[in-house]
Amino acid sequence: MRTKLMAANWKMNKTPDETRVFFREFLPLVAGHDRDEIVVCPPYTDVDAAIAGARGSKVAIGVQNVHWKADGAYTGEISAPMLVSLGVTHVIVGHSERRQYFGETDDTVNLRLKAALEAGLTPICCVGEVLEEREAGLCDDVLRRQCVRAFHAISAKKAAKLVVAYEPVWAIGTGKTATPEMAAEAHAVIRREAAEVFGEEFAAKLRILYGGSVKPDNAAVLMVQEEIDGALVGGASLDAKSFAGIVKY
Ligand code: PEP
Repeated sequence: MRTKLMAANWKMNKTPDETRVFFREFLPLVAGHDRDEIVVCPPYTDVDAAIAGARGSKVAIGVQNVHWKADGAYTGEISAPMLVSLGVTHVIVGHSERRQYFGETDDTVNLRLKAALEAGLTPICCVGEVLEEREAGLCDDVLRRQCVRAFHAISAKKAAKLVVAYEPVWAIGTGKTATPEMAAEAHAVIRREAAEVFGEEFAAKLRILYGGSVKPDNAAVLMVQEEIDGALVGGASLDAKSFAGIVKY
C-alpha cells in the first residue's frame, strides 16, 4: 500500500560531467520501472546537470541538506525556496554524517524539516543509532528521542510529505547491514513514535526507508520486509548499473 522510495545519496561525489554520464546510463536501465519512486540526491553543484539529465523521466532530484531560513546573511547556505526554484523536490535532512562532522543536532533537524515541508519539499529525515548505543541496548530510546525532537511542533497536515530513513550509523559505508529483522524492529519503533505524534492514520502511510550498505545483492532481502518502504543508498548509488540493480531488486 506504500509506494517504495528508492533514494540515492551521492554525498560529495561527481562533477556535472560525471552526472550527465550517470543519467545517460541510468535512465535506460530503469525505463518503464513504475513500481517505485526514484530520487537522486547529488551535491548542489550537480543539480542543474541532474535535472537536465533526468528530464522526461520519472526520476526526481533531491539534495542533501537545506537551511531553515528562506534568505539572509547565512554564508554558504542554501534555502528551501532556492531549491524549489531549481526544480528540486526532495531533501535529505539530519544525515548521520551531518550530525557527526557538522554539528547537526536534533533541534536543527527539526528546523530544517519545518522549512522543507513549508516549501513543499519532501524531506527524508535520517535517524539511527551508533554502535555503542545499540550495544548498550539504547537503540529504541535513541530512535524515539530523534523522532520526537525532529517532529516537534509539526502538524500531521504539514508533515504529509515526510519520509523517514532508518540508518544505523554502524552500517553506513561499512559493508555491514542491519539484518532484515533488526531493520523491521527499528522501523516499527519509528512508526509507533510517528503514531504518537501524528496519529495512527498518518503513521500507517508514513514511508520509512532503510539505509546502510544497501547493495544489489542484499536489496531484495531487505526490501521484501513489510516494514521497509524503500532504501537510502550511498556508495552503491554512484554507479548507474549498481543503483539500477537496487531499484529493480
Ligand atoms: C548513506 O549515506 O545514506 C548510506 C546509507 O551510505 P552507504 O549506502 O554507503 O552505507
